[in-house]
This record gives sequence, structure tokens and C-alpha cells, in this order.
Amino acid sequence: MATEYELRGQLATCTRIFAMQGMIGVFGHVSVYQPELKRVFITPGMGSDKGSLRAEEMVPCDLSGKPLEGEQGPPVEWPIHTVIHAARPDALAVAHLHTPYATLFTIAKRKFQPVTLQGAIFSDGVPLYPEAQLITNPARGEALLKVIADKRAVLLRGHGIVVAGKNLQEVLYTSLVLEDDAKKSWQAATLGEVGTISEEECRAFGAEIALERRAQRAWNYFAGLEARWDHQPATGRSELFP
Ligand SMILES: [Zn+2]
Repeated sequence: MATEYELRGQLATCTRIFAMQGMIGVFGHVSVYQPELKRVFITPGMGSDKGSLRAEEMVPCDLSGKPLEGEQGPPVEWPIHTVIHAARPDALAVAHLHTPYATLFTIAKRKFQPVTLQGAIFSDGVPLYPEAQLITNPARGEALLKVIADKRAVLLRGHGIVVAGKNLQEVLYTSLVLEDDAKKSWQAATLGEVGTISEEECRAFGAEIALERRAQRAWNYFAGLEARWDHQPATGRSELFP
């Protein structure tokens, strides 16, 4: 079992990488869960500077959103995290992001489908939560849970995305892949009809098998970039698969 110290540190690193990549900013939050203690660590809410977050700034709360120490509560959309952590043993980390490209698929009337081999991890599809509303109470959280079900990610209409994974490394990697595939879909659409990777092709590629290794390698790579980043928004962001 990872220690509180390790989880706080990983959560801070993951969030700073998202900031470097331009995938989190004024909005967005990331969480990690300790099932043994039913305790959630979540990044602070709207307006906090995600690009410079430190381990000690993470907000611990219980599954009802109650802060476990200090004055500061979790971000208003905390039920996104608590319902998924409580229901899915395979979702110990959750990110809610308003990323520039994947969010386009919450607006355009176009289904998300993988367009690269890396995107094969989304062969099950990415469902759409149809309500244009913030997930600010447990009832909306439960409704969201029904839509994401056992999938890796869900699109929130006119809003953003939620990505769940077994650890922060997986959530970082799968979020980067989702954003990259969304961006490439949009770019390819300017050239003509967009070709997608079929379910059979996704399965044949075996992306699931290599996921853990890829997630760890991507984590190491981006953590290295983040360590030498100057923490200015304009100088972040490198392509995932150039
Ligand atoms: Zn949001």
C-alpha cells in the first residue's frame, strides 16, 4: 500500500504534468484514493495554480466530501471523484479535466473513436454524460457513474472529461492518449474523412497488455520534462507521440 506521503507526491507530480501539457488550468482536479482508509486526496479547487502544486497542498476528504484536516474543502465537483472511487476497485485515481481537444467531442455531435494505435485502449468507446451541468451533488455523481460504468473515460456534454484508472500513472497516460487522439481526429478532419481503428484492430494491437509498462514509461518521461519545466504556461506542452 502506497503511503500518504507517496500518494500526495504522485498527485502533485501528475497535476503539474497536466498543467505543463495545457490540460489543466483554472478548472480541473485530480484525485487518488486509499480504499483501506476510505480517504481521498484531491487537488485544490478552481483558481489554484496547478503548475506549481506541492504535496502538502492536497486536500484529504472522506467519501462524503468532508475535509479531513484544515479549513479547505475539496473542489465543488468532488462527487465525480467520490462516487467513482467508492464504486470501482479498479479506479483508485480519477482526473476531471477541461482539455482543449477532448472537450471538442463533448460539443461536436461526433462519437469519439480511436484514430491511432495508442488510442486502442479506448476500443470500448468513451460514452457521453448528456446533461449540461456540473456534478456538484451525489445524485449527479451517481448518474455519471451509470454512464461511465466500467469504462476508462466519459465525456461531459459541453464541459470536459473524466478519466479513471488504477493509479495516477495510468490516469496520466490514458488522459494524454485521449487528448492526443482527439487532437489528431480534429486535425485529420481538416484533411478529409477521418479513418478510425476498428474494435478488432484495437484488440489485435493488444494495447491493454502493454498499458502498465507504457504508463510507467510515459510517467518517467513527462516527470523528467516537468522537473526542468520553467512553469510558464506558454512553454509547457510537448506532443505525446511526435
Ligand atoms: Zn468541470
